[in-house]
Amino acid sequence: MHNILVLGGGFGGVTATRQLEQMLGWRKDVAITLVSRENFFVLTPLLFEACTGILELRHCAQPIRPALRRARFVEATVTSVDADRRVVRAVGPNDGTYELPYDQLIVALGATTNEVLIPGSEAALTFKTMTDALVLRNHLIERLERADAAITAAARRRCLTVVVVGGGLVGVELLGELTAFAGDVLRYYPRIRREELRFHLFEAGPRILPEIDAKLADISLRVLRGRGADIRVSTPVRAIEPERLHLSYESIDAGTIVLVAGIVPSAVAAAFPVEHDRRGRIVVNQAMRSLSHPTIWALGDCAAIPGPDGEPYPALAQHAIREARRLAENVAAVVDERAPAPFVFRSLGTMASLGHAQAVARVFGVRLTGFPAWWVRRTYYLFQMPRWDRRLRIMLDWTVALFFRPDITKVDIATEQVQMRDERASSTRRSGGYIAEQANFAKGDADTRTKARA
Ligand SMILES: Cc1cc2nc3c(=O)[nH]c(=O)nc-3n(C[C@H](O)[C@H](O)[C@H](O)COP(=O)(O)OP(=O)(O)OC[C@H]3O[C@@H](n4cnc5c(N)ncnc54)[C@H](O)[C@@H]3O)c2cc1C
Repeated sequence: MHNILVLGGGFGGVTATRQLEQMLGWRKDVAITLVSRENFFVLTPLLFEACTGILELRHCAQPIRPALRRARFVEATVTSVDADRRVVRAVGPNDGTYELPYDQLIVALGATTNEVLIPGSEAALTFKTMTDALVLRNHLIERLERADAAITAAARRRCLTVVVVGGGLVGVELLGELTAFAGDVLRYYPRIRREELRFHLFEAGPRILPEIDAKLADISLRVLRGRGADIRVSTPVRAIEPERLHLSYESIDAGTIVLVAGIVPSAVAAAFPVEHDRRGRIVVNQAMRSLSHPTIWALGDCAAIPGPDGEPYPALAQHAIREARRLAENVAAVVDERAPAPFVFRSLGTMASLGHAQAVARVFGVRLTGFPAWWVRRTYYLFQMPRWDRRLRIMLDWTVALFFRPDITKVDIATEQVQMRDERASSTRRSGGYIAEQANFAKGDADTRTKARA
């Protein structure tokens, strides 16, 4: 029996598992298992709209189980790998520890936000997961509510200042969606004027959107500045504190600070006993096989896969998907004792949404801007969702959003749970006091009745 174990339920892991199912799923001598921390896969390019409420949050995700046919799914957090015994250790939802054996191990554990670069980064919000999108959404709406009720001008100003740290694809798309969202929902906050809202983006490098060509980056800059955003390049953030950010020459009070200035490979993958590069990515050859451990394969954001020029491929979903397909074919080849083939891919292009039906894109060498770019981007990502049920829900959300303003319902689970607990505790105290009073009355009545009888 060949045990193929896939770690990570993101673009790389889910695509590789589905491809392996197609090629080997019918074979009795092959077992395919996918292990991931969450039981869903997130289509990250849709997270921006999920954050602002254009999309229902769950609709940017796909539950993994219905997306698989023959592979086994295990919801667990991978903690380590023992490459000598060929077992992966993981902790399940009931805190049970698993030891999962493998013959071929595919590592697709992705990356996390780089919090090492800027001191105090832990005080900032991040934007990588579905939870991040929910937390940021609640936070933004809460800041608008607070600004509406603020007594001092300084408190109001702080609540209405949003800073995005990092001018890459994620930072620019996030800023675009947030400026559009704020413009749309201000109608519900008549005491807040549009010009009171301040959006800043600070980028340490010489330009925004290094992933896209300079002309499209300039167009994005113009669109976002046209919405009043202050975008500064060659402006490294020196430190972050809660609600305060320091540049070299200036400090800014901001109620919302989102850190999207780069990623680092998953800490668990970076600690695996295989060869890594300087940044902690697993070093593999062009066939995506570990140089030090040939039974281990890696792809996506946690791997350094050399392209034809020797430079690693970028950490993008479009690459992770193609890498996954090739990697699955390579693992199937090795199971059948054939030679794996190198992964070679030329990017199809890059797209960046700017909110309000605006985007920039370069697809197959053609530049698109405005509505056509936005439409192409949306359509492309819609079809990246693995199943039709989710696609239909997304299309419905988009259609509704054409006619109505974004939803400003705030579901702050943590705060609500604390409030409910406090309320329950105080009502128990109150009813405890009431019951004691009733008991005293009853005792008083009984005493009076006894005295009367006597
Ligand atoms: C907001 C946002 C927007 C983006 N937009 C684009 C875009 O428009 N175009 C584009 O090409 N790319 C985009 N990207 C980048 C893209 O999402 C990544 O390159 C891609 O997700 C990498 O795929 P992956 O499989 O390597 O990692 P991921 O998709 O991140 O998957 C990693 C998986 O591993 C799981 N995992 C992690 N640690 C553990 C553990 N210890 N145990 C178990 N499971 C674990 C995670 O839960 C996750 O399911 C965007 C990224 C973000 C954050």
